[in-house]
Amino acid sequence: MLTHNGYNYTRHSIGGKKIRWICTSHYSKKCKATVYTIDEKIVRTYKDHVHPPNY
Ligand SMILES: [Zn+2]
Repeated sequence: MLTHNGYNYTRHSIGGKKIRWICTSHYSKKCKATVYTIDEKIVRTYKDHVHPPNY
């Protein structure tokens, strides 16, 4: 589990060092927000969330 700006992400796939994380609301709310990490550092964010953060 990864938390970024109040949003939670679940690990989706790993390609080498690069890990793709999808929003935990991906399936329930069809949220397309995705982040990529390399060595546990966020290197890229993709799409906006369709819901407020879950603090
Ligand atoms: Zn989301």
